[in-house]
Formats: sequence, structure tokens, C-alpha cells
Amino acid sequence: MRKPFMAGNWKMNTDSHSSVALARAVVAGSTDVAGDRVDVAVIAPFVYLRAVAQAVSSSAVAVGAQDVYFEQKGAFTGEISPAMLKDVGCTYVLCGHSERRHVIGESDDLVGKKVTAAIHGGLLPILCVGELLEERDAGKTENVVERHLRTGLAGLDGEKMSAVTVAYEPVWAIGTGRTATPQQAQEVHQFIRGLLAKIYGKDLADEIRILYGGSVKPDNAKELMAQADVDGLLVGGASLKADDFVKIIRAGV
Ligand code: PEP
Repeated sequence: MRKPFMAGNWKMNTDSHSSVALARAVVAGSTDVAGDRVDVAVIAPFVYLRAVAQAVSSSAVAVGAQDVYFEQKGAFTGEISPAMLKDVGCTYVLCGHSERRHVIGESDDLVGKKVTAAIHGGLLPILCVGELLEERDAGKTENVVERHLRTGLAGLDGEKMSAVTVAYEPVWAIGTGRTATPQQAQEVHQFIRGLLAKIYGKDLADEIRILYGGSVKPDNAKELMAQADVDGLLVGGASLKADDFVKIIRAGV
């Protein structure tokens, strides 16, 4: 049985006060379910991670970072290592979020190095995969998702793979208000699980959680979660409102 997993990606939002207030409100609204019935993570900007980790420390809500660099230390100005993220209380880290791939220009290979480095550093990576609108329209969704998966997971054996969560996030649905239909999400999630089964075997593929992300709101969360291969949700905009995110968390229970 895969435990549902709800993660809120705050992106480049909040400040030192509102990040802590939001984290506290998520804890308060989810204490009866978080940990036991649903895993919950808040994915905060780097500079607020320590304060957010302190704010959730007495709860089952985990903290994640939005990115990581693949080197351990050294002359990499502006970058943050896996050990630094562990040091400030992170459990999870996003790798290859579409805004990193398409706004910042991260390559598939770079994303793969980050996934590997995150696991070696004791973090649980959430590997984001997903197609652009023109790629979907051209019938290339599965090709793109397969490329993101194969390059993102390159070199990981089954043991390391068990630390990974996959997030399917169609780029055309992120921050656009245009959600994939539950059927569209299920089709791609099923494809992803099938591919994982080919690479790692069915038993492991059945254990890996695959999240959907892209304009998830309280009113579409339940329907998405009802799909057989949707194991959780990666939520951007709606995770900035504690009430909405708590409703989404509860849709997973
Ligand atoms: C995201 O940031 O991963 C995301 C899915 O954003 P939104 O929910 O705002 O579409």
C-alpha cells in the first residue's frame, strides 16, 4: 500500500514571518492525519528552511527544498549542497521542477546528477517530469516523460530508487489554472509505473509514489486522488493558503 503524499511547493513566495505562520497553520490543520494516514511536506525557499523546520519540528510535517546542487562543497557560488539541506532540517528535495528546467535552463543530465547527489546525501528526491503543451499536442508526452525518467534516474539501482518519489507535472498545467483531467493524469501515471516496472521490476514499481502536480485545488484534489496510480499531489499556488492546502491534504485520506 502506498501512503498518500501531499507536498506544497511554495516557490519564490513567503517571507521570514509568513513562511513560519504558513508552516504552523499546515501543522495545526493536519495533526490528526499527517504521518499516520498521509505524508505531508512543505517545500520552502532556501532562506526560510531552518525556521520552517523549527516550526514543524514537533509534528509529522516534513520539510523539503526546491533545488540542490550535485557537488558536496567547494567553489560553486550560489549553490546549496545536500549536506547543507540536511543540516537545516530538510527531508525532501525537488529535482528538475519544470521551472528549473524551462525558466532556468537545467538539462536532463544535471537533474540526474542532482537526484543521485540528493540520495547520497541522505535526502529523498522528488523527481519532476512532464511535457510542454507543444510536446503533448505533437503526441510526444510519453517520449518526454520517458526521457526525463531515464535521465533523472540514471545509475540508480533498486535500493536507491526506493528513496525517490516521482512527480508528473505537465508544464501546461502548472500555474495556469488548467488542470489535467483525472484520466489524462492516470494515463501518464500508469505509463510511468509501467516504465519503472520495466527498469526496476514490478514489486519496486508498485512501491514508488507518483504524485500529480499542475493547478491542483481543493475542488479537484479528490478526483485526482481517486485514480489508481495517483499517490499524492504536488501543489504550488494552492499550498500558499493554509486552508486550501489542508483541504487538499485531507483529500488524500
Ligand atoms: C508546482 O509548483 O509544482 C505546481 C504544480 O504549481 P501549481 O499548483 O501552482 O500549478
